[in-house]
Amino acid sequence: MKIVSFPLSTFCNSNESLEHLFCYCKHSIAFWKSVVLWLKSIDINIDFLNDYEIIFGLAQKNLNWTLLNHIIIIGKTGLLLQPA
Ligand SMILES: [Zn+2]
Repeated sequence: MKIVSFPLSTFCNSNESLEHLFCYCKHSIAFWKSVVLWLKSIDINIDFLNDYEIIFGLAQKNLNWTLLNHIIIIGKTGLLLQPA
């Protein structure tokens, strides 16, 4: 995002971009997998969240799309606010 002069990931030593932070960082991947497992535990069954869905949100075709989009936004906010 070019807000800081130090371009490494908050969580690992890769170059940080929005795509890396939200989708490709191993910590983000683990986070979204745990979100999907949690959703299954409350009977909202989705196979996974793909990169497009994480970055832009879900289309209206999913029954729980409003709730899921709120969860995705809250998840991304949490990833952005993680202490270094
Ligand atoms: Zn990373």
